[in-house]
Amino acid sequence: MSNILDGRKLAKEIELILQQTIESGIEVAKRPPGLSVIRVGNDPASEVYVKHKEKACKRIGVRSFAKHLKEDISSEELTETIKSLNQDKNVDGILLQLPLPPHLDEAMLLRSLDPDKDADGLHPLNLGRLIKGENGPRSCTPAGVMALLERNHIKIEGKRAVVVGRSILVGKPMALMLEAANATVTVAHSRTKDLPSLTRQADLLVIAAGKPNLIGGNHIKDNSIVIDVGIHRLPPDQKSLQEGKKTKLCGDVITSEIEDKVAAYSPVPGGVGPMTVTMLLANTVNSWQKHCGLHLTISHLLP
Ligand code: NAP
Repeated sequence: MSNILDGRKLAKEIELILQQTIESGIEVAKRPPGLSVIRVGNDPASEVYVKHKEKACKRIGVRSFAKHLKEDISSEELTETIKSLNQDKNVDGILLQLPLPPHLDEAMLLRSLDPDKDADGLHPLNLGRLIKGENGPRSCTPAGVMALLERNHIKIEGKRAVVVGRSILVGKPMALMLEAANATVTVAHSRTKDLPSLTRQADLLVIAAGKPNLIGGNHIKDNSIVIDVGIHRLPPDQKSLQEGKKTKLCGDVITSEIEDKVAAYSPVPGGVGPMTVTMLLANTVNSWQKHCGLHLTISHLLP
Protein backbone atom coordinates (compact mmCIF):
# COMPACT_ATOMS: atom_id res chain seq x y z
CA MET A 1 0.00 0.00 0.00
CA SER A 2 1.25 3.50 -0.85
CA ASN A 3 2.34 5.71 2.02
CA ILE A 4 1.57 8.88 0.07
CA LEU A 5 -1.12 11.18 1.46
CA ASP A 6 -2.78 12.12 -1.78
CA GLY A 7 -4.14 15.65 -1.44
CA ARG A 8 -5.36 15.80 -5.04
CA LYS A 9 -7.58 12.76 -4.66
CA LEU A 10 -9.01 13.89 -1.34
CA ALA A 11 -9.56 17.44 -2.62
CA LYS A 12 -11.62 16.01 -5.50
CA GLU A 13 -13.73 13.94 -3.09
CA ILE A 14 -14.42 16.96 -0.88
CA GLU A 15 -15.15 19.16 -3.91
CA LEU A 16 -17.82 16.68 -4.96
CA ILE A 17 -19.46 16.91 -1.52
CA LEU A 18 -19.33 20.72 -1.73
CA GLN A 19 -20.79 20.72 -5.24
CA GLN A 20 -23.68 18.49 -4.13
CA THR A 21 -24.19 20.71 -1.07
CA ILE A 22 -24.57 23.75 -3.32
CA GLU A 23 -26.91 21.94 -5.71
CA SER A 24 -29.17 20.82 -2.91
CA GLY A 25 -29.28 24.24 -1.17
CA ILE A 26 -29.53 26.63 -4.08
CA GLU A 27 -33.30 26.52 -4.47
CA VAL A 28 -33.83 27.71 -0.90
CA ALA A 29 -30.81 30.05 -0.90
CA LYS A 30 -31.85 31.54 -4.27
CA ARG A 31 -28.22 32.28 -5.09
CA PRO A 32 -24.92 30.39 -5.24
CA PRO A 33 -22.12 30.91 -2.71
CA GLY A 34 -19.84 33.83 -3.59
CA LEU A 35 -16.09 34.17 -3.00
CA SER A 36 -13.94 37.22 -3.62
CA VAL A 37 -10.19 36.68 -3.82
CA ILE A 38 -8.38 40.02 -3.74
CA ARG A 39 -4.97 40.11 -5.43
CA VAL A 40 -2.82 43.23 -5.28
CA GLY A 41 0.00 43.74 -7.79
CA ASN A 42 1.72 41.14 -9.92
CA ASP A 43 3.43 38.63 -7.63
CA PRO A 44 3.83 35.62 -10.02
CA ALA A 45 3.22 32.93 -7.37
CA SER A 46 0.04 34.70 -6.21
CA GLU A 47 -1.16 34.85 -9.81
CA VAL A 48 -0.87 31.05 -10.07
CA TYR A 49 -2.60 30.46 -6.71
CA VAL A 50 -5.46 32.83 -7.54
CA LYS A 51 -6.01 31.12 -10.92
CA HIS A 52 -6.27 27.75 -9.14
CA LYS A 53 -8.82 29.22 -6.73
CA GLU A 54 -10.93 30.75 -9.52
CA LYS A 55 -10.94 27.47 -11.47
CA ALA A 56 -11.95 25.56 -8.34
CA CYS A 57 -14.88 27.97 -7.76
CA LYS A 58 -16.09 27.35 -11.29
CA ARG A 59 -15.82 23.55 -10.93
CA ILE A 60 -18.16 23.36 -7.95
CA GLY A 61 -20.57 26.26 -8.62
CA VAL A 62 -19.20 29.03 -6.39
CA ARG A 63 -19.55 32.47 -7.98
CA SER A 64 -16.17 34.22 -8.11
CA PHE A 65 -15.92 37.97 -7.45
CA ALA A 66 -12.17 38.16 -8.03
CA LYS A 67 -10.48 41.56 -7.73
CA HIS A 68 -7.09 42.30 -9.22
CA LEU A 69 -5.91 45.66 -7.92
CA LYS A 70 -2.98 47.82 -8.90
CA GLU A 71 0.35 47.43 -7.10
CA ASP A 72 0.36 51.02 -5.78
CA ILE A 73 -3.15 51.00 -4.30
CA SER A 74 -3.26 52.69 -0.88
CA SER A 75 -4.33 50.94 2.34
CA GLU A 76 -7.33 53.33 2.48
CA GLU A 77 -8.50 52.46 -1.06
CA LEU A 78 -8.09 48.75 -0.37
CA THR A 79 -10.05 49.11 2.88
CA GLU A 80 -12.90 50.67 0.90
CA THR A 81 -12.89 47.69 -1.50
CA ILE A 82 -13.00 45.27 1.44
CA LYS A 83 -15.84 47.22 3.10
CA SER A 84 -17.94 47.11 -0.05
CA LEU A 85 -17.40 43.32 -0.27
CA ASN A 86 -18.32 43.03 3.44
CA GLN A 87 -21.67 44.61 2.56
CA ASP A 88 -22.26 42.70 -0.69
CA LYS A 89 -25.05 40.17 0.00
CA ASN A 90 -23.79 37.89 -2.80
CA VAL A 91 -20.35 37.47 -1.21
CA ASP A 92 -19.91 34.85 1.53
CA GLY A 93 -16.13 34.65 1.63
CA ILE A 94 -13.32 37.18 1.14
CA LEU A 95 -9.65 36.24 0.88
CA LEU A 96 -6.87 38.80 0.80
CA GLN A 97 -4.10 37.03 -1.12
CA LEU A 98 -0.78 37.38 0.77
CA PRO A 99 1.92 38.60 0.54
CA LEU A 100 0.80 42.19 0.00
CA PRO A 101 3.16 44.85 -1.37
CA PRO A 102 5.25 46.17 1.55
CA HIS A 103 3.65 49.65 1.70
CA LEU A 104 0.29 48.16 2.69
CA ASP A 105 -0.75 47.69 6.33
CA GLU A 106 -1.56 43.96 6.34
CA ALA A 107 -2.72 43.79 9.97
CA MET A 108 -5.10 46.74 9.56
CA LEU A 109 -6.48 45.33 6.29
CA LEU A 110 -7.13 41.90 7.79
CA ARG A 111 -8.95 43.61 10.66
CA SER A 112 -11.23 45.37 8.19
CA LEU A 113 -12.63 42.04 6.91
CA ASP A 114 -16.06 41.02 8.17
CA PRO A 115 -14.97 38.14 10.51
CA ASP A 116 -17.85 35.99 9.26
CA LYS A 117 -16.71 36.37 5.64
CA ASP A 118 -13.02 35.86 6.52
CA ALA A 119 -12.41 32.86 4.26
CA ASP A 120 -8.81 32.31 5.44
CA GLY A 121 -9.50 32.70 9.17
CA LEU A 122 -6.86 35.40 9.66
CA HIS A 123 -9.00 38.11 11.28
CA PRO A 124 -7.90 38.52 14.94
CA LEU A 125 -11.39 37.50 16.10
CA ASN A 126 -11.10 34.20 14.21
CA LEU A 127 -7.60 33.55 15.52
CA GLY A 128 -9.04 34.21 19.01
CA ARG A 129 -11.89 31.78 18.28
CA LEU A 130 -9.29 29.18 17.28
CA ILE A 131 -7.36 29.68 20.53
CA LYS A 132 -10.58 29.38 22.56
CA GLY A 133 -11.84 26.35 20.61
CA GLU A 134 -14.92 28.25 19.36
CA ASN A 135 -16.42 27.78 15.91
CA GLY A 136 -15.26 30.13 13.18
CA PRO A 137 -13.50 30.12 9.83
CA ARG A 138 -10.10 28.42 10.11
CA SER A 139 -6.94 29.22 8.17
CA CYS A 140 -7.13 27.13 4.98
CA THR A 141 -3.65 25.56 4.84
CA PRO A 142 -3.58 24.10 8.38
CA ALA A 143 -7.27 23.19 8.00
CA GLY A 144 -6.27 21.32 4.84
CA VAL A 145 -3.54 19.47 6.75
CA MET A 146 -6.04 18.46 9.44
CA ALA A 147 -8.46 17.15 6.81
CA LEU A 148 -5.65 15.26 5.08
CA LEU A 149 -4.72 13.56 8.36
CA GLU A 150 -8.22 12.88 9.62
CA ARG A 151 -9.67 11.57 6.37
CA ASN A 152 -6.68 9.24 6.00
CA HIS A 153 -7.55 7.90 9.47
CA ILE A 154 -4.32 9.07 11.01
CA LYS A 155 -4.78 9.27 14.76
CA ILE A 156 -3.59 12.60 16.15
CA GLU A 157 -4.53 12.21 19.81
CA GLY A 158 -1.54 11.46 22.02
CA LYS A 159 1.00 11.95 19.24
CA ARG A 160 4.13 13.97 19.77
CA ALA A 161 3.83 16.63 17.03
CA VAL A 162 6.50 19.09 15.92
CA VAL A 163 5.56 22.06 13.71
CA VAL A 164 8.49 23.76 11.99
CA GLY A 165 7.47 27.39 11.36
CA ARG A 166 5.49 29.87 13.47
CA SER A 167 3.85 32.17 10.91
CA ILE A 168 0.33 33.45 11.48
CA LEU A 169 -0.63 31.99 8.10
CA VAL A 170 0.50 28.40 8.74
CA GLY A 171 2.70 27.45 11.71
CA LYS A 172 0.78 29.04 14.62
CA PRO A 173 -2.74 27.99 13.60
CA MET A 174 -1.36 24.54 12.68
CA ALA A 175 0.05 24.09 16.18
CA LEU A 176 -3.25 25.21 17.75
CA MET A 177 -5.30 22.84 15.59
CA LEU A 178 -3.06 19.88 16.43
CA GLU A 179 -3.22 20.76 20.11
CA ALA A 180 -7.03 20.97 19.89
CA ALA A 181 -6.93 17.44 18.43
CA ASN A 182 -4.98 16.37 21.56
CA ALA A 183 -1.46 16.09 20.14
CA THR A 184 1.42 17.27 22.31
CA VAL A 185 2.87 20.04 20.20
CA THR A 186 6.29 21.73 19.97
CA VAL A 187 6.87 24.64 17.60
CA ALA A 188 10.29 25.15 16.02
CA HIS A 189 11.51 28.27 14.21
CA SER A 190 14.65 29.82 12.77
CA ARG A 191 16.27 30.27 16.22
CA THR A 192 15.62 26.69 17.32
CA LYS A 193 18.88 24.98 18.26
CA ASP A 194 19.65 21.52 16.88
CA LEU A 195 16.52 21.12 14.76
CA PRO A 196 17.27 17.48 13.76
CA SER A 197 17.32 16.24 17.35
CA LEU A 198 13.94 17.89 17.95
CA THR A 199 12.25 16.74 14.74
CA ARG A 200 13.53 13.16 15.30
CA GLN A 201 11.24 13.03 18.36
CA ALA A 202 8.14 13.74 16.26
CA ASP A 203 5.52 11.09 15.58
CA LEU A 204 3.93 13.76 13.41
CA LEU A 205 6.12 16.38 11.75
CA VAL A 206 4.64 19.37 9.89
CA ILE A 207 7.15 21.54 8.06
CA ALA A 208 6.20 25.08 7.02
CA ALA A 209 9.56 26.84 6.98
CA GLY A 210 9.67 27.92 3.35
CA LYS A 211 13.21 26.53 2.93
CA PRO A 212 13.76 24.02 0.11
CA ASN A 213 15.49 20.78 1.20
CA LEU A 214 15.56 21.80 4.89
CA ILE A 215 14.41 18.38 6.12
CA GLY A 216 16.25 15.22 5.15
CA GLY A 217 16.51 11.63 6.36
CA ASN A 218 18.42 12.52 9.54
CA HIS A 219 15.53 14.75 10.73
CA ILE A 220 12.99 11.95 10.70
CA LYS A 221 11.84 9.32 13.17
CA ASP A 222 11.16 5.93 11.58
CA ASN A 223 7.47 5.24 10.89
CA SER A 224 6.44 8.83 11.57
CA ILE A 225 4.02 10.99 9.58
CA VAL A 226 5.56 13.87 7.62
CA ILE A 227 3.55 16.75 6.19
CA ASP A 228 5.39 19.09 3.83
CA VAL A 229 3.67 22.48 3.56
CA GLY A 230 6.55 24.24 1.79
CA ILE A 231 6.28 24.99 -1.88
CA HIS A 232 9.07 26.29 -4.10
CA ARG A 233 9.44 26.85 -7.82
CA LEU A 234 13.00 25.96 -8.77
CA PRO A 235 14.68 25.97 -12.20
CA PRO A 236 13.71 22.78 -14.10
CA ASP A 237 15.82 19.63 -13.75
CA GLN A 238 16.27 17.06 -16.55
CA LYS A 239 13.06 15.20 -15.65
CA SER A 240 10.95 18.37 -15.57
CA LEU A 241 12.36 19.45 -18.93
CA GLN A 242 11.49 16.07 -20.42
CA GLU A 243 7.93 16.52 -19.10
CA GLY A 244 7.81 19.94 -20.81
CA LYS A 245 7.70 21.86 -17.50
CA LYS A 246 9.34 25.27 -17.09
CA THR A 247 9.89 24.94 -13.33
CA LYS A 248 10.39 22.16 -10.82
CA LEU A 249 8.11 22.26 -7.80
CA CYS A 250 9.47 21.05 -4.47
CA GLY A 251 8.76 21.39 -0.78
CA ASP A 252 10.86 21.79 2.37
CA VAL A 253 11.53 18.05 2.52
CA ILE A 254 13.99 15.94 0.51
CA THR A 255 11.44 13.31 -0.44
CA SER A 256 13.94 10.73 -1.69
CA GLU A 257 15.55 10.62 1.79
CA ILE A 258 12.33 10.10 3.76
CA GLU A 259 9.85 8.19 1.60
CA ASP A 260 11.08 4.73 2.63
CA LYS A 261 11.44 5.62 6.33
CA VAL A 262 8.05 7.10 7.13
CA ALA A 263 4.59 5.64 7.69
CA ALA A 264 3.05 8.32 5.48
CA TYR A 265 3.98 11.65 3.91
CA SER A 266 2.40 14.39 1.83
CA PRO A 267 4.12 14.99 -1.52
CA VAL A 268 4.86 18.31 -3.22
CA PRO A 269 3.09 18.89 -5.53
CA GLY A 270 -0.17 17.06 -4.87
CA GLY A 271 -0.29 17.10 -1.06
CA VAL A 272 -1.20 20.16 1.01
CA GLY A 273 -1.56 22.58 -1.95
CA PRO A 274 -4.84 21.16 -3.37
CA MET A 275 -6.22 20.79 0.16
CA THR A 276 -5.67 24.50 0.85
CA VAL A 277 -7.85 25.46 -2.12
CA THR A 278 -10.53 22.97 -1.10
CA MET A 279 -10.69 24.30 2.46
CA LEU A 280 -11.15 27.80 1.06
CA LEU A 281 -14.18 26.51 -0.83
CA ALA A 282 -15.39 24.66 2.27
CA ASN A 283 -15.17 27.83 4.41
CA THR A 284 -17.11 29.73 1.72
CA VAL A 285 -19.84 27.11 1.37
CA ASN A 286 -20.17 26.85 5.16
CA SER A 287 -20.53 30.62 5.41
CA TRP A 288 -23.11 30.59 2.56
CA GLN A 289 -25.19 28.04 4.46
CA LYS A 290 -25.07 30.32 7.52
CA HIS A 291 -25.90 33.49 5.58
CA CYS A 292 -28.82 31.81 3.77
CA GLY A 293 -30.28 30.12 6.86
CA LEU A 294 -29.59 26.60 5.52
CA HIS A 295 -28.75 23.57 7.64
CA LEU A 296 -25.02 23.42 8.36
CA THR A 297 -24.12 20.11 6.73
CA ILE A 298 -20.39 20.37 6.09
CA SER A 299 -19.04 21.40 9.51
CA HIS A 300 -17.54 17.91 9.87
CA LEU A 301 -15.14 18.73 7.01
CA LEU A 302 -13.71 21.69 8.93
CA PRO A 303 -11.44 21.54 12.00
P1 NAP B 1 6.96 32.41 6.56
O1 NAP B 1 5.97 33.46 6.96
O2 NAP B 1 8.20 32.82 5.85
O3 NAP B 1 7.37 31.61 7.87
C1 NAP B 1 8.37 30.64 7.86
C2 NAP B 1 8.58 30.12 9.26
O4 NAP B 1 9.60 29.14 9.21
C3 NAP B 1 9.05 31.19 10.26
O5 NAP B 1 8.38 31.02 11.48
C4 NAP B 1 10.54 30.91 10.38
O6 NAP B 1 11.08 31.20 11.68
C5 NAP B 1 10.62 29.43 10.17
N1 NAP B 1 11.91 29.04 9.63
C6 NAP B 1 12.58 29.58 8.58
N2 NAP B 1 13.77 28.96 8.40
C7 NAP B 1 13.86 28.00 9.35
C8 NAP B 1 14.84 27.04 9.69
N3 NAP B 1 16.00 26.96 9.02
N4 NAP B 1 14.60 26.23 10.73
C9 NAP B 1 13.43 26.30 11.42
N5 NAP B 1 12.47 27.21 11.14
C10 NAP B 1 12.68 28.04 10.12
O7 NAP B 1 6.27 31.31 5.63
P2 NAP B 1 4.74 30.76 5.61
O8 NAP B 1 3.84 31.77 5.02
O9 NAP B 1 4.41 30.18 6.93
O10 NAP B 1 4.92 29.58 4.55
C11 NAP B 1 5.82 28.52 4.76
C12 NAP B 1 5.95 27.69 3.49
O11 NAP B 1 4.68 27.14 3.18
C13 NAP B 1 6.36 28.48 2.24
O12 NAP B 1 7.14 27.64 1.42
C14 NAP B 1 5.04 28.77 1.56
O13 NAP B 1 5.18 28.94 0.15
C15 NAP B 1 4.31 27.49 1.86
N6 NAP B 1 2.85 27.61 1.83
C16 NAP B 1 2.21 26.63 1.16
C17 NAP B 1 0.84 26.66 1.12
C18 NAP B 1 0.15 25.55 0.39
O14 NAP B 1 -1.04 25.67 0.10
N7 NAP B 1 0.82 24.45 0.11
C19 NAP B 1 0.12 27.68 1.73
C20 NAP B 1 0.81 28.65 2.45
C21 NAP B 1 2.20 28.59 2.50
P3 NAP B 1 11.11 32.69 12.31
O15 NAP B 1 9.72 32.95 12.80
O16 NAP B 1 12.09 32.59 13.41
O17 NAP B 1 11.51 33.62 11.21
